[in-house]
Amino acid sequence: MRLFNTLTKKIESFMPIKPELVRIYSCGPTVYDHIHIGNLRSFIAADTLRRSLRAAGYKTKHVMNITDIDDKMIARSHELYPDLTPEQALKKLAQKYETVFMHDMTAIHNEVEAYEFVHATDQETIKSIQRLITKLYDAEIAYIADDGVYFSIEKYTQAGKKYGQLLDLTKQNTSNARIQNDEYDKDSIHDFALWKTRKDEEPAWEFSLDGHELLGRPGWHIECSTMSTDALNMPFDIHTGGIDLIFPHHENEIAQSTAATSESIYATCFVHNEHLLVEGKKMSKSLNNFFTLRDIEEKGFEPLSFRMLCLQAHYRSQLNFSWETLQAAQNRLQNLRNVATLRWQAQEMSKDPIDLSASLSEIQASMLDDIDTPNALAKLGALCNEFDNRLVATSELESFTHFITEIDALLGLDLMQQKDITKDQKSLIAQREAARQSKDWERSDTLRTQLLSEGIGIRDTETGTVWYRT
Ligand code: AMP
Ligand code: ZN
Repeated sequence: MRLFNTLTKKIESFMPIKPELVRIYSCGPTVYDHIHIGNLRSFIAADTLRRSLRAAGYKTKHVMNITDIDDKMIARSHELYPDLTPEQALKKLAQKYETVFMHDMTAIHNEVEAYEFVHATDQETIKSIQRLITKLYDAEIAYIADDGVYFSIEKYTQAGKKYGQLLDLTKQNTSNARIQNDEYDKDSIHDFALWKTRKDEEPAWEFSLDGHELLGRPGWHIECSTMSTDALNMPFDIHTGGIDLIFPHHENEIAQSTAATSESIYATCFVHNEHLLVEGKKMSKSLNNFFTLRDIEEKGFEPLSFRMLCLQAHYRSQLNFSWETLQAAQNRLQNLRNVATLRWQAQEMSKDPIDLSASLSEIQASMLDDIDTPNALAKLGALCNEFDNRLVATSELESFTHFITEIDALLGLDLMQQKDITKDQKSLIAQREAARQSKDWERSDTLRTQLLSEGIGIRDTETGTVWYRT
């Protein structure tokens, strides 16, 4: 398997640390609202990575966090539930939108059962975050300020560690200012908050540090450092997220995790997906140019069409979202499904068999080449065209079914779910065939129209009538 690693800026041959299990951590959603489809692009990329590793023969442990405490969570929980205590309001908000998130993940066929989901506000996580902050403080890399505990970039670099492993920060401005906001701008280096002491009406946890009582809450970056290494140990294999997370989030995760240990590697490979754009701009809540999966469904599109749209682009390329491109993706998905339904229409015929196991290997090879989904889909499309023309022979039904099952495991497009038509619909097709043979064109047309009204199209081939869903 080859993967582009943001740490080296190269496509590398991927080697797991322990051959028997690839350990992956994906930055998950902040559950303060519906996630948008830009976020979903990131989660589809992570899901496709895991599916590709599986195709390469690896077992995986895939951890995704749920950010259920941060500035946005607190603001929204006040807004929605002003009558609850801050802790109750936060919990209610998180539960509500975690349920929505899981629904969205399932709808686009990310394999939720293949992940271990971890939560920032779990008691054990909070304790573990506090232990890490204490360790950083004891190593004199963290310091206490009037509004929280901060990470000192200067102390970190003085300890011989490199700040700027994922991107070149030497050219960027270094500022003495401390930053409390988790999502600070991209062109300056700041000491950042590990722990924020309580402001009015915020959910908070007790924390004693060196005789100071620091009732408060964790910063965003330390949550991921803690949850990833608690679940996967350090170093682990692959860390994923969108490119906007490279700095400061992932850079800070590396710094926090490696500061007070002799281990200099946090994760051996960072895989970052490019953004989903709208009219050339990153889809984001702040620009108010976002759509959710609900918007897509309300416009009559299937969630899986969005998965198809994402797979059509390489994960490291920007992808412009429009309703026209979504429609084209839905049509392409439908074409694949119509080929998959040929398994219900296998015919006795003598045709040279297609070597499906070789085709599957080629498609898998594209996926193992830095997850080249556009190439994999092009190969799959070319193969489907062949079947569309020559149909499936009874003798190749087993290998065809196996092939479609494996493609589903790889791409998550759910092609095997395509059902057979009903007995009544089959009878209509047989009646039309009889009408045609007796040259009763009017009845033949009526029957075709009736089938069309039920979403079934038909075409006549040299070996008989073939149906497909419109
Ligand atoms: P957030 O909840 O903002 O931390 O985002 C969750 C994931 O979505 C992160 O990996 C982000 O990098 C990613 N993300 C956010 N916006 C986009 C976008 N427009 N396109 C692709 N990924 C995105
Ligand atoms: Zn994270």
